[in-house]
Amino acid sequence: MKIAIHTPLEGFTNDIADVIRLFYGEGSVVTPLDEHDAELVHEHEESGGVWRERVTLTCDGKEAAQELAGDAVAEEGLERKRRLKRLIKRCCYQLMKLHTGRHPAWGSLTGIRPTRLYYQQMEQGKTRNEARRALAELFDLTDEKIELLDEIIDAQSGLIAREPDACDLYVGIPFCTTRCAYCSFSSGEIGNGKLVEPYLQALYREIDLCSEMAREMGLRIRVGYMGGGTPSSLTTKQLDGLLSHIEKRFGAFDEFTVEAGRPDTLDEDKLRMMRSHPIHRISINPQTMNDETLQIIGRAHTAQQTVDCYELARRLGFDDINMDVIAALPGEDYAMFENTLAKIRELAPESLTVHTLAIKRSSKLHEQKYQQREGDVERMVNLGRETAHAMGMRAYYLYRQKYMAQNMENVGYAMPGRYCRYNIDNMEETTSVLALGAGGISKCVMRQEEKILRAPNIANIEQYIARVDEMVERKREAFAAKARA
Ligand code: SF4
Repeated sequence: MKIAIHTPLEGFTNDIADVIRLFYGEGSVVTPLDEHDAELVHEHEESGGVWRERVTLTCDGKEAAQELAGDAVAEEGLERKRRLKRLIKRCCYQLMKLHTGRHPAWGSLTGIRPTRLYYQQMEQGKTRNEARRALAELFDLTDEKIELLDEIIDAQSGLIAREPDACDLYVGIPFCTTRCAYCSFSSGEIGNGKLVEPYLQALYREIDLCSEMAREMGLRIRVGYMGGGTPSSLTTKQLDGLLSHIEKRFGAFDEFTVEAGRPDTLDEDKLRMMRSHPIHRISINPQTMNDETLQIIGRAHTAQQTVDCYELARRLGFDDINMDVIAALPGEDYAMFENTLAKIRELAPESLTVHTLAIKRSSKLHEQKYQQREGDVERMVNLGRETAHAMGMRAYYLYRQKYMAQNMENVGYAMPGRYCRYNIDNMEETTSVLALGAGGISKCVMRQEEKILRAPNIANIEQYIARVDEMVERKREAFAAKARA
């Protein structure tokens, strides 16, 4: 189905398109000039402090319409836009729901952080019950998704840092051994490794300058996260040097995670070296335990390597290991995903992140015009949840992305007491982040103003190396603006 949208309001076409895609998938929205099967016409009226939205879908000569009214917010600005957007989306959603007879699990919600909406309801003074009811009414979420949000809010309780000087550290290593077919990050294949040393030199400089800046500005760095890319694609010596440098400049962390990522980047020497550093948590990510899928998605390791690497890490004393899996990978059906989860269950990690495949525009799968799997994705995601629960884990963070199979979600599960605070901070955007390395995005959270100042580092590796001082200046300006506010 190809649907063309007409709206008299500027800046709302994408929001209407997002709702249509919930029901008809990617590629279902076209411009009125393109060939189309149906037209969705939006009409807007404002009088006496009331907004009236009407949407009409015309398809095969038949018309279906929906109307909604809401109190108008008089002043121009973000709040007005946000409220109007919600009303328009709700109106379109109700029409599409009636038209298709389908009820998407996340209702009309297309945003990436649904927990935020729950918190917003509570900040307005609502009880948990009232907040749940409001989410069901406003966005038409299914009971399962409200339950999931509830579980996360419980897990996060007491873990969100509210002090204004609290800050997390992120260090990015934008190299991987090969590029996964679904990858949309700016990471480069490590190739002949020519860029690694110059990159590390630039990163050391950024660490030096930013640790000084953090001290001058009184930032209290509490948790650290080294991600990428794949940090363990560095040699043992390079990673050892980098970890030592971070510890020397920033001191002790309450929590420090290293994404060891791919099993093919780890060996006993590297893991032993990592154990000699104060690392609290590592990730060893299988994505799938099916060898044929690993080949299809371009990961240069086998399922057995994941098991061996995990067992070695355990023997060496790592007692907090996360594993990532992805539902709806190319060529995988329910039984294959079930196999992956059964193997993970045998390994018994402390946390499990269940992703749903998202096909971003910059990925190889997008280039190959891969069509998302339909049908049993929701069942797979539910199985991930059941498996995590059966291992004694609880959901503790969640995010959604565009272009995800059946508009599902990514959920982090962990054993109680093993929740990664960096992941919570990052998803809820409640704590400032000093992000170092190519593509890192520093955030200054200004709670009073309900504002976040962002200072992105350039993603291109060569440009980052050449302009590292400028990246530090961007951060300095953002944190200074926060201090002045
Ligand atoms: S390991 Fe992650 S960053 Fe590296 S290529 Fe795969 S998806 Fe991309």
